[in-house]
Amino acid sequence: MTLESLSSRLPATEGIEPADPHSLFAMARSSVDQACAITNTPNYVQEMLGQPKNELMVHFPVRMDDGRYKLFKGYRIQHNNVLGPYKGGIRYHPEISLDDVKALAVWMTMKCALMRLPFGGSKGGVMVDPARLSPAELMRLTRRFTSALGDNIGPEFDIPAPDVGTNAQVMDWMMDTFLNTHNQATRQNLVHVVTGKSITCGGSEGREKATGQGLGMVLQELLPEFNLKLDKLRVSLLGFGNVGKHAAAAMAAHGSTVVAVMDHTRAITRPDGLNIAHLADYVQTKGNIRDYQAQGLRTLNRQEFYSLPTDVFIPAALERMINPEVAAWLNCQVVAEGGNGPVTPEAAQLLRQRGITVLPAILCNAGGVIVSYLEWVQNKAGVHWDSAQVERELRKTILLAARRVRVAAHQYDVDLSSAAYCVAVEHLSRAYTQRGIFP
Ligand code: NAD
Repeated sequence: MTLESLSSRLPATEGIEPADPHSLFAMARSSVDQACAITNTPNYVQEMLGQPKNELMVHFPVRMDDGRYKLFKGYRIQHNNVLGPYKGGIRYHPEISLDDVKALAVWMTMKCALMRLPFGGSKGGVMVDPARLSPAELMRLTRRFTSALGDNIGPEFDIPAPDVGTNAQVMDWMMDTFLNTHNQATRQNLVHVVTGKSITCGGSEGREKATGQGLGMVLQELLPEFNLKLDKLRVSLLGFGNVGKHAAAAMAAHGSTVVAVMDHTRAITRPDGLNIAHLADYVQTKGNIRDYQAQGLRTLNRQEFYSLPTDVFIPAALERMINPEVAAWLNCQVVAEGGNGPVTPEAAQLLRQRGITVLPAILCNAGGVIVSYLEWVQNKAGVHWDSAQVERELRKTILLAARRVRVAAHQYDVDLSSAAYCVAVEHLSRAYTQRGIFP
């Protein structure tokens, strides 16, 4: 029996998808399905990319500082590993859901394939607001979650990293817990079970700023197509966390003017440009931009923020924030997705009609996973590279991917966003064709 005829006998998956039309997983899947159709990908590959391989849900107790015990829900979704070990972040957020984590895992598979990294895609998280936990509670929660994941993570199997609500400290605790619960004799060889660790604990130079820095490199490569010059650019950013602040710093370093920033507390503008280093220092201490002051600074309401005339708008906050209402307000030429899935499909359609180009997250925010891969490689080899070497490898990998996307857009006569998925799907499909399906 051929694989094609096998695929026609597989049960249809449509019936088991969430009915929610705003499902993030349905949104991620539709991009993959569309790319499969454009590239004429075999049905059986499309079916396999349509569902995660493994979905793990755990409930685990944590002792709080007041002596009470609280039960938490955690997830780990392993979407695909045809190219290598599963790879994906851990998110701590009170509104995390199975559907969202599945979508984020799909995007990791696509991102790693587009970047030609030897990794698959996964994602995980815990339903918790980390800001409401003490450092001791956060550590106990992280250690207990890591032990609940058990052998479902591992340095050659599934490798977590930081995402929203987690950081290098959380990764250090995960690594330490994994080492202490696994074979004593080999445990020093297991530090690459997570990436995004602190430098002291085996992290890589440049990991923290890598996502924002990579976004700057992608824009440097692709913006000339739109007759936009980096040193003349006016930029606004939604979100000023890890991705947002480093993307802003990268753009400012290229000579661009960052005219507006919005976080979950406030939107601000300064027509002559915000001092990004100063704002980043402030947010590092205060956690948000609510009370930030500077000469010439003005507070904007939501509609004023989105309607501000700019060349490039960088959404670097959470998913689905650019809905049709916001898409109608946007007054820019390019939307560069710093965060994952910020633009809903309806909004994407409206932006297309309005002639606004969307540069997709699987390209724009891949810098983080690239440097995570470099950290993994350094850990395995027992070496530590300097920042110049890390930056060189990051630039090479992300620019090659950007060029692949540009070529595919011409080849298939599609927009850059669809082209990015086509490049990823083609690579995954080739791997399946070469390897075949076991047994
Ligand atoms: P973060 O928690 O450091 O920052 C999130 C930012 O979004 C904060 O400034 C917050 O104020 C803002 N925000 C949240 N809700 C908002 C709202 N309702 N309105 C306006 N602003 C709001 O997170 P991060 O690590 O910067 O991640 C942001 C996005 O980038 C996520 O989608 C994440 O999955 C993605 N991403 C992160 C990395 C990484 O290396 N950190 C890599 C790839 C993709």
